[in-house]
Amino acid sequence: MNDSKYIYLDNAATTPMDPRVIEEVTKHFRETYGNSSSLHSVGQKAGQVLLKSRETIASLINANRDDIFFTSSGTEADNIAIFGVSSKSKERGNHIITTSIEHHAVENPYKELEKKGFEISFLPVDKYGLIDLKDLEGAINDKTILISIMFANNEIGTIEPIKEIGAIAKKHDVIFHTDAVQAFGKVPIDVNEMNIDLLSAAAHKLYGPKGVGMLYIRNQGVREGWGKYIAPIMYGGGHEREIRPSTVNVPGIAGFAKAVEIAKEEMEKEMERQIRLRDRIINFATTNIEDCYLSGHPTQRLPNNINLGFKYIEGESIVLDLDVEGIATSTGSACSSKSLDPSHVLLAIGLKPEDAHGSLRVSIGRFTTEGDIDYLLEKLPFVIERLRKISPLKKGVKYIFDETAINHHH
Ligand SMILES: *Cc1c(COP(=O)(O)O)cnc(C)c1O
Repeated sequence: MNDSKYIYLDNAATTPMDPRVIEEVTKHFRETYGNSSSLHSVGQKAGQVLLKSRETIASLINANRDDIFFTSSGTEADNIAIFGVSSKSKERGNHIITTSIEHHAVENPYKELEKKGFEISFLPVDKYGLIDLKDLEGAINDKTILISIMFANNEIGTIEPIKEIGAIAKKHDVIFHTDAVQAFGKVPIDVNEMNIDLLSAAAHKLYGPKGVGMLYIRNQGVREGWGKYIAPIMYGGGHEREIRPSTVNVPGIAGFAKAVEIAKEEMEKEMERQIRLRDRIINFATTNIEDCYLSGHPTQRLPNNINLGFKYIEGESIVLDLDVEGIATSTGSACSSKSLDPSHVLLAIGLKPEDAHGSLRVSIGRFTTEGDIDYLLEKLPFVIERLRKISPLKKGVKYIFDETAINHHH
């Protein structure tokens, strides 16, 4: 691998840090070392940086400053939302509605709650990955305490109708959580206009540091008629108003805020630029490569996500071959890419298991150039053709698949 030529197109798994963010984080690691809860001036200074960061991050989604709670990751934010609400709301009901295409950071907590006696409705999606609003409304009953629907899918990029979902949740007085880890900083989000009560995000998906996340909690978790509806999942000191105790990572959070500031400033221009690059890849591949199709919605999708299906070959082989050519891509979610099960997301949109194995996710980013795409589109057809030549699954050969080996999901 020649580092100077290496092209990183796996920004949905994680992003490289923006140099401006690295500078900010480094500065704060050096200068802002105090514990933000300490009374002395070094601690007070850290407290000020924390407050300012909270303000910046809140402004991106039109939230109140005090409704931002910092966590160590997107996964932790999802877990606090899910276990925090379910533990506190048990007397109100034990029914939760989510989708069949959530990230494992949401899906697996719900599977855990199922074992504990909660009833979870996993809504189906259509061929584009969209939920049906009528299904959602029909699934709500008087035991429903929570609706969790991701903002945008990490594998296929589809953006759910969040505003409409929020309106339904509000109408039925149910708490609405959205895992916005992929969408945050990439597309406009307004927690008030969209009636979002809980929202998860992570800095490392928007050119910030890894290990820094946040949960937006409307009105700090107090709801009219409900009282306090969220409990911590860890118990310790009083940091983050006891929702997430543990000494706060102030330098990392300052970096998160810097990343948000940049994202906010450049969003409009970047959306336009990335959509152009995205559609160039999609149009090229689906017209020039045989038996290649797009997964996810053609337009209602993240500006940086491309998910292509290639019949008769394995996504893993494409990823490895592209890596040899100096291009980083993925088969889907980074978390399932090491397992042999086909993606639950691709199965949910109706792909056959053998087709779900042939998927390639290309996720572009702020540092992706037109030249990078030229290079990808030069290499991709050769990689696909070479793999198909040696594929035992190519046209005309019957695919033998063991149905029992798949889908342990629901
Ligand atoms: C990456 C991701 C997560 C997990 O975030 P971490 O910070 O890696 O824990 C959760 N949900 C979605 C949609 C993601 O893309």
